[in-house]
Amino acid sequence: MAKQPRILAGQTAAITGGARGIGLATAKALLGQGMKVAIGDVDLAAAQASAEELGPSAVAIALDVTDRGSFASFLDEAERQLGPVDVLINNAGIMQIGRFIDEDDLTAKRQIDINLHGVILGMKIALERMIPRDRGHIINISSQAGKFGAPGGATYSATKHAVVGLSEAVRGELRLMDAHIDVSYVMPYVVNTELGSGLGQARGLANLEPAEVADAIVQALRHGTVEVWVPKSSRRTSVLAAVLPRRLSEGMARAMKADRVLADADSLARRSYELRASRSEPGLEGASEPQKLPSSVD
Ligand code: NAD
Repeated sequence: MAKQPRILAGQTAAITGGARGIGLATAKALLGQGMKVAIGDVDLAAAQASAEELGPSAVAIALDVTDRGSFASFLDEAERQLGPVDVLINNAGIMQIGRFIDEDDLTAKRQIDINLHGVILGMKIALERMIPRDRGHIINISSQAGKFGAPGGATYSATKHAVVGLSEAVRGELRLMDAHIDVSYVMPYVVNTELGSGLGQARGLANLEPAEVADAIVQALRHGTVEVWVPKSSRRTSVLAAVLPRRLSEGMARAMKADRVLADADSLARRSYELRASRSEPGLEGASEPQKLPSSVD
């Protein structure tokens, strides 16, 4: 008999990077399920404005995912205001694109700190709380760049591949410990958010809306899905790519122009996003030179 979907009403979720984009759409979707939501963001003013719009079951809390103290206070404060955190969504992330050989070291470090170490920290701090309760669900937002290496976003792809490996390994450890805590990872194609602005287009694939990713997250929470492809059909492409000889799978990617999505980005259209992203790790910025805009990836 098929398992009954889980009831989410009354549960508390903490969402990193919840001020805008996919995080904000997810907060809305979870509130729609009757959950309470804490949105943490390095941009506290934007998070506060979003929480206000979301209504009384949402709270905004300052968060820098690269800082252990900040992450622990985020979860402490979420639990103080809303009750034990049942769900952590590690969504905060940045994507700074450009040719790998032109990328400066601080840009690489910032993406690794936020996209990967932020998720590592979040999982550790949440599991300290979830393991004694023997319940909880952690959802890590990876990307399709976490399965296919995306030219023009090498370090970004590396961080998103790492999130997939991290999620699988921690999930395995939790099973060995007989802990009843779920770990899922989500791999969206390009989404219409500021992070996704000015990107190229693959043939036959339309950009997603943040609400479509949010719906997939709700379904993953309800059904305990581990590997979440958005759109679902991209799972077939990944299975096919894995069984085809490399010459054919790379030919298929070229025919779909999937190798041009980040490489053909319009740097002018991404200008304000890239500047915001370069200021997303407060601890690193003090010591850094101003961020250079990515050079064209022709
Ligand atoms: P976005 O830029 O719209 O939102 C990301 C949020 O994260 C922002 O509010 C930002 O302030 C916050 N943030 C950045 N650094 C932070 C830090 N140090 N601490 C706390 N918060 C921080 O981006 P989005 O498109 O909504 O992306 C959300 C996630 O989805 C990211 O992990 C991204 O890699 C992933 N993703 C996005 C796309 C896409 O095309 N938009 C596709 C696949 C995966």
